[in-house]
Amino acid sequence: MKKTVDNLNNLYKPTFENTDKMTKFLGSHCVDHALDFHYGHRIKINEKFTNELYPIPLFRFKLQGIKTEVFFDVYTNKNYIGYIKLYPKKEELLSFNIKIFESLKYLVYGFYNYQEKINFENLEEARTKIEQSKENKFIIYADFENLEQIFNIVEMLSVRPNKRFSMANYKCECGHYITVDAYNGSCPVCGKDSTFKRKFATKCPVCGTNGLKDQYGRGECDKCGWIFDPFVEEQKDNVIYPNLISLNKAKKLYSEGKPFEPNLDEFIEALNCYSEMQFEYNGIYYAVEFVSNGEDEYDIELYNSKTGEAFIFKTTDDFKNNAKVEGKLLKDIWEETTDRYWLQ
Ligand SMILES: [Zn+2]
Ligand SMILES: [Zn+2]
Repeated sequence: MKKTVDNLNNLYKPTFENTDKMTKFLGSHCVDHALDFHYGHRIKINEKFTNELYPIPLFRFKLQGIKTEVFFDVYTNKNYIGYIKLYPKKEELLSFNIKIFESLKYLVYGFYNYQEKINFENLEEARTKIEQSKENKFIIYADFENLEQIFNIVEMLSVRPNKRFSMANYKCECGHYITVDAYNGSCPVCGKDSTFKRKFATKCPVCGTNGLKDQYGRGECDKCGWIFDPFVEEQKDNVIYPNLISLNKAKKLYSEGKPFEPNLDEFIEALNCYSEMQFEYNGIYYAVEFVSNGEDEYDIELYNSKTGEAFIFKTTDDFKNNAKVEGKLLKDIWEETTDRYWLQ
């Protein structure tokens, strides 16, 4: 028994050294990752292959939104320490820069149909084959012989934030052990927000209730629905993203027990901020947008999403005074409109 344990320890030692380096590297690049185990490999003990199942460690994370797994094998030789698998969807594969894998022996094949291999020697042909494929998901597979090769791939496909961060380790509800950037982190396996995601205590500037904001000062009041934003508090009388009314107007409406709804002037102020707005009237949605008139200037377009009709206004005043829906002036029926929001 002792001999078996010693053998296994020796066998796993180099692998765990690699996984330690890998987790440090992913951490320094703020790549949220889970360390997991995968069964299904024959390994070599005392120069002999055994066909028993052995667990090998694997990392799960995402690169540019694509599900990625890196396996560190226990059986290794000078050309092989493990393999990487990316699982791009069809659209992701079509826009993927496969050159990143050029220094490795890689394979691309259909997720369900392993026979469906994509040959990237001719990019045009590969594109056509992917487009015509019945598969919606693919696998990019490559063996690697040293950690540098994997680090290079992660480096090329990840964006390292320049903000300071701290890592957090925890067991997610989905059962995986996770290491995440504690500012932005979410579980790379199930997508659930980390309980370590940074939150700071704050007081709602509208109703005074205690609330939580994130590192950017964003958050939402549970009581009145006001969305916290650090810039709003500097310009209390202006409509500023992400709210549709000014802070002072919200305070007034709150004290009167009224909902936070923009009047037409505020709607236009929000339009100046967002460029695209919407409202609903009699069950029909209308879009209000700035559109280029081809002379480096912008007109305002009122678009009826049901009939496809569009009306153009030269200025915000023109829009405010003359825009009509169902033959009625918008300013006269504004109170009857609903779902005023930025364009969804
Ligand atoms: Zn999870
Ligand atoms: Zn509030």
